[in-house]
Amino acid sequence: MGATDHKAADTAAPVVTRFAPSPTGFLHIGGARTALFNWLFARHHGGKFLLRIEDTDRARSTQPAIDAILEGMRWLGLDWDGEAVFQFARADRHAAVAHQLLAAGHAYKCYATPEELTALRESQRAAGKPMRYDGRWRDRPESDAPAGAPFVVRLKAPTTGSVTIPDRVQGDVTVNNAELDDFVLLRSDGTPTYMLAVVVDDHDMGVTHVIRGDDHLNNAFRQLALIRAMDAVVGGWPDPVYAHIPLIHGSDGAKLSKRHGALGVEAYRDELGILPEALGNYLLRLGWGHGDDEIISREQAVEWFDLAGVGKSPSRFDQKKLENLNGLYIRGADDARLAELTAARLGVDEAGRTTIETAMPVLKLRAANLNELADGARFLFAVRPLPIDEDARPLLEGGNTEVLAALHTALDALPHWDTEALETAVRGVAETRGIKLGAAAQPLRAALTGRRTSPGIYDVLALLGRQESLARIADQMAVTADR
Ligand code: GLU
Repeated sequence: MGATDHKAADTAAPVVTRFAPSPTGFLHIGGARTALFNWLFARHHGGKFLLRIEDTDRARSTQPAIDAILEGMRWLGLDWDGEAVFQFARADRHAAVAHQLLAAGHAYKCYATPEELTALRESQRAAGKPMRYDGRWRDRPESDAPAGAPFVVRLKAPTTGSVTIPDRVQGDVTVNNAELDDFVLLRSDGTPTYMLAVVVDDHDMGVTHVIRGDDHLNNAFRQLALIRAMDAVVGGWPDPVYAHIPLIHGSDGAKLSKRHGALGVEAYRDELGILPEALGNYLLRLGWGHGDDEIISREQAVEWFDLAGVGKSPSRFDQKKLENLNGLYIRGADDARLAELTAARLGVDEAGRTTIETAMPVLKLRAANLNELADGARFLFAVRPLPIDEDARPLLEGGNTEVLAALHTALDALPHWDTEALETAVRGVAETRGIKLGAAAQPLRAALTGRRTSPGIYDVLALLGRQESLARIADQMAVTADR
């Protein structure tokens, strides 16, 4: 039975995609990208993007993981249509579908005991054969059933021919039906398996396009067998369009994992200070391309996104590239918003936030993330006498005391405290003393900020104001004289 025998989902029908995370951990980078691609595809086609929480693994699913996934998606601006669907709550419906298949002869009860199945696997292993269920209960009459014995329900999957999935990313992928076994739909306690739940939920949610990691490509063949069985029994179960996207790899080429420093999206926000639009842009470019475009706004992404642009080979996660992109987004971001985020990091009040906002045009020129932004803003709130960084101390020693004194005199004499006047004054001191501009600016920077690096020195002077600047310089003149 080939794919051509079946009608694929009507491509004219409204597009419905879904993101179906298992809440056994935080929303990781790979999951976030899958969600983004599904969201973009749906928005591009004016369709729906649905969210399903696959919480059937009761031992490993947790509420904090669910919360983190929802929050991560909100943060990334991936809004879903309608209420999130919780898979476990739909177990009765999943079981009902299995019973429909059972009644129609597309599924059967299998009474093989766990011991029998273990022995089967052992013998297959010993013979070097692939390990799969051998269909021993497939054609046995119900009268053979041991009375009252537990059973599982298995799909009566096709055993001959092949199935070709016209995957939108992988191309045509064909598997011989002989390679697939009659997998379990209902366990012996009557609970549905994951494979059954996914198929029933996708159908009931009206999902037209299944876009997910290519680690699920093998599952797709089993899921399709199930879909086609239901289509044969009740009709109205079209093949979805599949698009299996390559997984993300780490810089060493191996599948991305915690070992590569891969984190939940909340860690990119909280610990690394990444803006959501930067992470979204980075994830978009990780496996999808539109010419050479690197900076792509969400609006452009919605306009341009297609599955044809998804690459077939795994992409490598590059933290440095993400930081560079983040820096670009920081430079383009609204000052008031950045000030808010920075103030929160520094734990300063409303007045502090205002101060930061004033300084933001200057601060944001250098920062690659919000931590650097906060770090760069710290000098604004430093309390005199400033603590001086270890590596900045030499800048305040020796002959530099005199340089500071000369700067103090020149700056103190200025009638106007604006960047132009400040620059003229500092340059004047350097010229008079026959030293390079840097030899004047560096001690000044150390005195004003306690550090070797800071925003431009005239900006620092302007931001601190006359009184505070002169006082900070004077503090260091006094200290260094005693050293
Ligand atoms: N719950 C699965 C996962 O988190 C996804 C299943 C699917 O997309 O079909 O990997």
